[in-house]
Amino acid sequence: MDDGSPLFLVLLGAPGAGKGTQARMLSEKWGIPQVSTGDIFRGNLESETELGLLAKQYMEKGELVPDEVTIGMVQERLSHSDCARGAILDGFPRNIPQARALDDILKEKGTSLRFVPYIKVSDEVLLARLSGRWICRQCGAVYHMLYNPPKVPGKCDICGGELYQRPDDRPEVAKNRLKVYFEQTAPLIEYYRQRGLLVEIDGEQEIEGVQVALEAAIKSHDCP
Ligand code: ADP
Ligand code: AMP
Repeated sequence: MDDGSPLFLVLLGAPGAGKGTQARMLSEKWGIPQVSTGDIFRGNLESETELGLLAKQYMEKGELVPDEVTIGMVQERLSHSDCARGAILDGFPRNIPQARALDDILKEKGTSLRFVPYIKVSDEVLLARLSGRWICRQCGAVYHMLYNPPKVPGKCDICGGELYQRPDDRPEVAKNRLKVYFEQTAPLIEYYRQRGLLVEIDGEQEIEGVQVALEAAIKSHDCP
């Protein structure tokens, strides 16, 4: 931050809106970490930790992992030294209790959210994005077979790692994730709007266009 205070940014949006794609770009540019709760759960699942095995039961159905687990995990992650200058939160908060918990965590750090970008995308586009999403098993880079394809099919441009499709991007699970989003996460739009923090970003532009709109919003809120 210009004034030295940390920057904690929440990217709000439905599954497939482009939060991870944008968070990664901002994180590289600013040198502050992307904290994706979905990535943390998937990492734990891959290494078969207790947390991973617990999260699996919820993730494979497209349901939310219980708040007491998720909030504690985020609190712990944000206490690491690499978050001293801030973090870009992607996939958290996902309901009102998580948003309240984040307000408390940031208050304890002597800071708060300056604004909340909401990446807005229509339902049909979301399903098309989820069904074409491919992820690098090694570095987590995100591709889309039509909108952001890798140079060599099945291989990551950045690290050469193998690309895979998330099991929860299958249409049956993806549809439930969108249902859960509308029931539990979408109320956060009003939560942040009422606090005067919400800034809508048109998420249906190309990836670069969304990035430009996000950066403009960030600049106009006195962020770096
Ligand atoms: P989220 O983190 O919100 O679930 P992702 O960043 O993983 O979303 O993006 C979902 C899919 O849509 C990915 O395959 C990604 O490559 C693609 N994508 C992201 N942003 C755009 C965009 N602006 N236009 C087209 N495709 C996009
Ligand atoms: P994502 O990678 O953000 O699409 O998240 C994948 C899955 O991880 C979700 O469908 C949930 O099962 C779980 N998850 C991720 N973030 C949260 C959260 N903030 N609260 C509860 N569950 C979450």
